[in-house]
Amino acid sequence: MLAQIALTRMAPRMNPKWNGQFSCFDLVAKTSERSRSVVRVRDIEIGGADFVVMAGPCAVESESQLMSTAECVAKAGARILRGGAYKPRSSPYAFQGLGVEGLKILQKAREATGLAIVTEVMSEEDVALIAEYADIMQVGARSMENYALLEALGECGRPVLLKRGMTATLEDLLRSAQVISMAGNPDVILCERGIRTFETATRNTLDIAAVPVLKTVSHLPVIVDPSHAAGVRCLVGVLARAASVVGADGLIVEVHPSPENALSDGNQSLTFSEFRNMMEDLQPYLALQHDSRQLGPQLLPLGGAA
Ligand code: PEP
Ligand code: MN
Repeated sequence: MLAQIALTRMAPRMNPKWNGQFSCFDLVAKTSERSRSVVRVRDIEIGGADFVVMAGPCAVESESQLMSTAECVAKAGARILRGGAYKPRSSPYAFQGLGVEGLKILQKAREATGLAIVTEVMSEEDVALIAEYADIMQVGARSMENYALLEALGECGRPVLLKRGMTATLEDLLRSAQVISMAGNPDVILCERGIRTFETATRNTLDIAAVPVLKTVSHLPVIVDPSHAAGVRCLVGVLARAASVVGADGLIVEVHPSPENALSDGNQSLTFSEFRNMMEDLQPYLALQHDSRQLGPQLLPLGGAA
């Protein structure tokens, strides 16, 4: 029964509306020659058979905060440590990040745990410096259309995690991915992190359909950020579960040793035990997906009548 669900779960025909809609973004659009690309980060493959979890605090606040979080998430199965050293904050009075000191703490955590590092870059002027420390360069939702930054990332020598802008369509997201690729960097990971809608019960509205749509029209890996979509920790686990069953290649999740004392995004940050529970809860869903993930390209055929 489960195997049957796995095999039949995602065999959508191409919506005729999309047929050709994204083909102008030729470097990122799916073609019959290129149906899936895998982004390699150290020994990790994003977009391949594994479901890759990135986890850590919203911001690097101190060495002890980051180290304890890194140890917890590594033990629970995360492969990549997140943590902002340069923070785009809505309020100019909010914590803006530790800057280079934060990058050095991230480096220490990588040495101690073996986790790869993803951290945000906000300005083209910081690209070279951050690339010295980061394994993946994160472009935040607010920077998705910062073309000077996207172009500078073309030659940074690191994969880019491109988050969807909060008012961006999927076409806008793919256009930005195309800019990075045209600038010389094909290693782009797309991230759905919720968009602005009229709904106010959640911080953003997780566009869960974005995952199968992007997987159908683009060869790039797609991950989901349930934390910034939810805005509250009680929804993070169930949104993560949803992401795992619609074919996402992984997650990026906020975790903090003491969320009530976090300098940013405490409400949506999981405690250590909540993160461990989330990882455990995902296992049966990931097992169900495993066979079909390996089928990869056959899951989402490019052509065919609706
Ligand atoms: C973040 O990942 O901490 C962040 C600021 O996310 P976003 O750019 O999606 O708002
Ligand atoms: Mn955050």
